[in-house]
Amino acid sequence: MSLPLESFIPVKRTLMGPGPSDVNPKILNALARTTIGHLDPMFVSLMDEVKQLLQYAFQTKNELTMPISAPGSAGMEAAFANLIEPGDKVIVCQNGVFGGRMFENVVRCQGIPVLIKDKWGEQTDPEKLRDALIANPDTRIVAFVHAETSTGVRNDAELLCSIAKQHGCLTIVDAVTSLAGCELRVDDWNIDAIYSGTQKCLSCVPGLSPVSFSDAAVEKIKQRKQSVQSWFLDMDLVMGYWGKGTKRAYHHTAPVNSIYALHESLIILAQEGLEKAWQRHYENHCLLRDGLESLGLEFAVDESYRLPQLNMVNIPVGIDDAEIRSRLLNEFNLEIGAGLGELAGKVWRIGLMGYGSNKENIAYCLDSFSKVLNR
Ligand SMILES: *Cc1c(COP(=O)(O)O)cnc(C)c1O
Repeated sequence: MSLPLESFIPVKRTLMGPGPSDVNPKILNALARTTIGHLDPMFVSLMDEVKQLLQYAFQTKNELTMPISAPGSAGMEAAFANLIEPGDKVIVCQNGVFGGRMFENVVRCQGIPVLIKDKWGEQTDPEKLRDALIANPDTRIVAFVHAETSTGVRNDAELLCSIAKQHGCLTIVDAVTSLAGCELRVDDWNIDAIYSGTQKCLSCVPGLSPVSFSDAAVEKIKQRKQSVQSWFLDMDLVMGYWGKGTKRAYHHTAPVNSIYALHESLIILAQEGLEKAWQRHYENHCLLRDGLESLGLEFAVDESYRLPQLNMVNIPVGIDDAEIRSRLLNEFNLEIGAGLGELAGKVWRIGLMGYGSNKENIAYCLDSFSKVLNR
């Protein structure tokens, strides 16, 4: 048996799917810098800068703000595993794939889930949340996805959190696709636990999950009767490593080079300015929208709650989904997203995330579509 001995050299693609998005070359360069020890004082001060920059990106003063050394799904697990104790009632709002995963997490943490469902492609109905909270006054936590990547819907995080707060609940918010792509204000909106991912609107490499926990969330974690079932994701232990001061206890080896990359992506964001980045995502969405509509494609999500960074369009009647996507990939090196779950074969999802949200990508995408669709 012969082993493969050739280096892997990927083809350059244009990534306009649901993530990973195009990585900024500056960030790829940062990744290639020399590796240093993860307890080197120089690395420890880099960790402090990353925390500070993440606080800016999340718009929070939360002390417990850091990247988890694993992808967005691990950030999700960290939020649920730390906040839920067996028997805690948790309302999960579901209007797509990722809300379903939240439900799974509640079950596995031995919480009592109450599921509120809305149609895929529509927003979570705040009235349903109000009703569920009235019907379940013992609810401890409300969880929902801010930017539902499976449908391109933005849920009204500010409103849903304010309803949860009126009923004394903590809030868990999935911001994997929303962070840096549309307005998100952790402190002003009363979000208690939030997690994101590096490969969407931060345009960084996949594999890290920025998270942040409010003081109220930290208090609930401190008062747990049972320790968190997951050793790796126990925020109490992780804090000893990512926490304040120069004395850091070894917990796991941080993915040193990936942290360089995250740092680079966060300074790029801070240099542009968070609000300018949100605005750019919106303006580029409008450009893409106009172009797609002039090719005869229709958006599947109402304009008022559409995500600028994830554009879901209906596949025209008589068009073969898989054939078009594979021609885009093979002839144009352009990746777009397929529909998930009940939307499979019915929609395409076109990402305009972070660095990839630019005019060149839009022009390239429209030109490629016009060729494969013969329009
Ligand atoms: C991508 C995504 C995740 C999962 O992130 P991974 O990095 O793939 O684990 C979770 N939630 C949402 C809304 C996402 O878009």
